[in-house]
Amino acid sequence: MQGAERLSERLGAIDGRAYKAYQSLAGAYAFPDFELFIDHVQGDPFAGPSRVRVRLGRDKHRLPPHLLDGRERRVATADFLARQVAAAIRKLAKGHRGTGHSGLIAIDEGGQEVLERTAVAIDEEWLEARLFLGLPAAGRTVLAREARAMFFEELPAIVRGSLLYSALDGQALAEHVALYEDQEYIRRELPHLGLVAFVGEGAVLPRRSGISDAPMPREKAVPFAPPPGLTVEFQTPNHGRVRGMGIPAGVTLIVGGGYHGKSTLLRALERGVYNHIPGDGREWVVTVAEAVKIRAEDGRRVEKVDISPFIRNLPFGQDTRRFSTEEASGSTSQAANIMEALELGAKLLLIDEDTSATNFMIRDERMQRLVVKEKEPITPFLDKVRQLYRERGVSSILVVGGSGDYLDVADTVIMMDEYRPRDVTARAREVVREYPTRRQPEGGAGFGSVPARIPLPEGFHPLRHGKVKVEAKGLHSIRFGEETVLLQYVEQLVDPAQTRAIAAAMLYLAQKYAGRLTLAQAVARVMADVDRYGLEVLSSRRNGPPGDLARPRPFELAAAVNRLRSLRVAVADGEGRRKEAAGGE
Ligand code: ADP
Ligand code: MG
Repeated sequence: MQGAERLSERLGAIDGRAYKAYQSLAGAYAFPDFELFIDHVQGDPFAGPSRVRVRLGRDKHRLPPHLLDGRERRVATADFLARQVAAAIRKLAKGHRGTGHSGLIAIDEGGQEVLERTAVAIDEEWLEARLFLGLPAAGRTVLAREARAMFFEELPAIVRGSLLYSALDGQALAEHVALYEDQEYIRRELPHLGLVAFVGEGAVLPRRSGISDAPMPREKAVPFAPPPGLTVEFQTPNHGRVRGMGIPAGVTLIVGGGYHGKSTLLRALERGVYNHIPGDGREWVVTVAEAVKIRAEDGRRVEKVDISPFIRNLPFGQDTRRFSTEEASGSTSQAANIMEALELGAKLLLIDEDTSATNFMIRDERMQRLVVKEKEPITPFLDKVRQLYRERGVSSILVVGGSGDYLDVADTVIMMDEYRPRDVTARAREVVREYPTRRQPEGGAGFGSVPARIPLPEGFHPLRHGKVKVEAKGLHSIRFGEETVLLQYVEQLVDPAQTRAIAAAMLYLAQKYAGRLTLAQAVARVMADVDRYGLEVLSSRRNGPPGDLARPRPFELAAAVNRLRSLRVAVADGEGRRKEAAGGE
């Protein structure tokens, strides 16, 4: 490896030259405290920034080995370090140094969730932070003096301030790791206690605003108080006893008046599939990993999904066992969202009346009399929700403020009353006895089947103008070849770095597993590859590892595939037990 002086010399040689001259910097340089890898040099000051890595050996960073022991601890430590680097950048980098991105130094630090991400990588021998740099220019000419300040002053100061254990708040780091570990512990324990979710005492569920994921200030928020009947306790490895509300498996209703905090509770449960940073307010909100938010999503495409458990006998004899549409309605989209979630192995459905199609959720006695069953294609979720639990072990948590018919099918009823939950299950049973329903059950003998689908290679078109063009655009959209996949209603997607990983993973899946495996199997295989080789395996880049990917869940990866307008599938016979093609390698 060349010494850092070589970098200084090269900078000297290109000062004032055209921007392209920066390309000569690519390479690896030994600095006193770290190694610097310049992997990719941007083509001009307005292009995507240059990518560099700083790497520190164990003897330099001196992180205690127990904080790097095992996957969970490494993920949490890496997350902590990425945030420290970001804080050091805010403190130490000058920022703007010329045209375009000139002077920029950035790292993908993440939001309120702690996700496995590529921004900081930790190996047995070293740790590495992956940074984005805007190499400075005046107009389009190289500003070597500014660049020298970035490489020789700012970068070393950032490293010293954020990647050496001696510079860190050791207690904060230990707590970051301990909390992550305990959240994982609770998530693993939930099923053993017959629970699907947990909300800790004192949790702050509401957010600062509709556009901020930060917690509502403590003085405004009503802290979460678990109701007596549903209080449970975990003996955590690092935080001793943690008390809170346990939501049992089965069918749970969240009821209560408008504006009493129902949707806020459900949203916290949706996010509880992820671990949260200390201070988030949702540190102890933990949901089983296989929880999927379900909502209506009219306009989405659907490819050969069996929605017949919910919808049959559409006008003109449209087949609902292999239902395809370019533009689903509210009810058909919600049915497809459920069936796709089941196909991927969902164990908990989260549904809010605010974002559901009413005719998908309920059909009351009077409507049953007026519109006879033969004339109504939809069997409401009300008549299916118990079958889902009984036959498939799939629980549901539903926000319902408006339909008492759901009281008939609930195992647990939680009432939100001025942001405080109450266990009103017993009272709900009395109401059911006092006011029996006269509606007819419509669910039939059983739930129905969930056929597996095999995505076919011909459904993926990653090319645009003859070149592979697959990239995320922010949190909610992916450019896949000529097509744009919209994910704004995939509500458990939380980080643009996940969207970037999903974009890469779609291409990876298409190239490696399409046509050979069911969608659930293919997605599981992609995730297994990520387990084994890291998120970097998804990237098709050759010049250096990506620094801006975060791990998506299988459900969101599948959701993106399912929303490709070009998707083509073959329906397997049985549920993933396709005789000839299943199994693959
Ligand atoms: P609902 O779904 O019952 O109509 P929401 O969950 O939408 O009610 O909450 C209504 C409002 O109350 C929101 O603005 C939300 O931020 C606020 N809110 C929710 N929970 C709390 C809480 N625990 N403390 C203070 N404000 C809250
Ligand atoms: Mg609501």
